[in-house]
Amino acid sequence: MKKFLLSTVLLTLVGGLVLVGFLLFRDQAGPQMTLTPAEGRISPQTPFTLNVKDVESGVKALSVRVQKNSREFVALDEEWTDKLVSRTAEFSLKESADFGEGSVKIIVKATDASFSGFGKGNTSTQTFTLRLDSQPPRISVTTLPPYVRRGGTACIAYTVNEEVKSTGVTVEDLYFPGYRQPDGSYLCFFAFPYYMTTSNFAPRVTAEDEAGNVTSIALAIKPLHVEFRVDTIPLPDSFLDSKMQDFTDEFPGQMSSLERFLKVNRDLRKANRAALLSIGHKTSPTMLWSGRFLNLPNASNRARFADHRSYMYKGQKVDDQYHLGLDMASIARAPVPAANNGTVVFADDMGIYGLCVIVDHGLGLQTLYAHLSEMHVKDGDTVNRGDILGLTGATGMAGGDHLHFGVILSGLPVQPLEWLDQRWIRHNITDRLAQ
Ligand SMILES: [Zn+2]
Repeated sequence: MKKFLLSTVLLTLVGGLVLVGFLLFRDQAGPQMTLTPAEGRISPQTPFTLNVKDVESGVKALSVRVQKNSREFVALDEEWTDKLVSRTAEFSLKESADFGEGSVKIIVKATDASFSGFGKGNTSTQTFTLRLDSQPPRISVTTLPPYVRRGGTACIAYTVNEEVKSTGVTVEDLYFPGYRQPDGSYLCFFAFPYYMTTSNFAPRVTAEDEAGNVTSIALAIKPLHVEFRVDTIPLPDSFLDSKMQDFTDEFPGQMSSLERFLKVNRDLRKANRAALLSIGHKTSPTMLWSGRFLNLPNASNRARFADHRSYMYKGQKVDDQYHLGLDMASIARAPVPAANNGTVVFADDMGIYGLCVIVDHGLGLQTLYAHLSEMHVKDGDTVNRGDILGLTGATGMAGGDHLHFGVILSGLPVQPLEWLDQRWIRHNITDRLAQ
């Protein structure tokens, strides 16, 4: 009987010891951590995200110390009673604003909620070394024209005193990238959009360095008001019935020709504009053009840039849109020359534009040739000024044979007349940049 008692006590003791040992030693590993960003250049404003995970016991405490030479501060110090398996914390190095530039150490300490170390838990420590850059880039504008016309283009040259992640000119929600030139300076073409008024046109040149420091300065350029024309476009049934047959693939189903026209004129037009924006990114970082831009020879001008068109059906206004190019009419199937040197970045059917060629001239500047009956170039071709791109026609939303000639800047249609004017080009761009 005594023996039996003794062995029971022993067994209980051993069992207890095993349990304590298990609790003390089952989790020997500290939490795992990931820090974003974990390397590279950062600014005092850069947001950091720290993810800590401990599947066995949960996370108990977390601290972040930041060191640079003899300076140090605590960016984060937290402890929890609930044993969540994973924790996400955010912090920044705001307090390092006066630390100056250079290498900083971020020391992350995370402790789990295990009984290890008689209740202290397992701690893992990891040190991350990053480069602190607290200075925003300095922009110096070297060339700025005194004014820009509504719908028109302006060109600036500027320098930035450090490597940048991105730079360009912003105009409301539009972004015109600046392009780095072989001499290290930047060139940027931007527009005073046709739909804006002089009072809400406020272009800014911006630059963001690799650490995320941003500089943005207002450009002192005077916007000149230009009044665009208004125009009415009658929509006879004869035109609608024949033309809308071309758009039954895009808009199938039962609907009247007028209903289909409104879908084409609104939805398809919008989709085509969005396509121009993405084609606008396919541009050379250097200027491919020189001298004046050619127009369709021996042609008369039928419609101008930014004409505000009211579409009339049986005496009623059914729609209104801006016409964002020049309509040039010559003989039918007239050869269409490339306006200047460049690379074909689009040659295909494009909704309202029909058969359409887009030539990139670099730095976001492109010319568009629409309603062609034939295309003689393909995507990727290099063209010189005067090379024949195709023949005029009436494909897409065109009532008769003509060329719709557009100039597009980073996806935004701009006034083509400026580019057809040798004096404007010299005065506003080439002479200015040569200085
Ligand atoms: Zn047109």
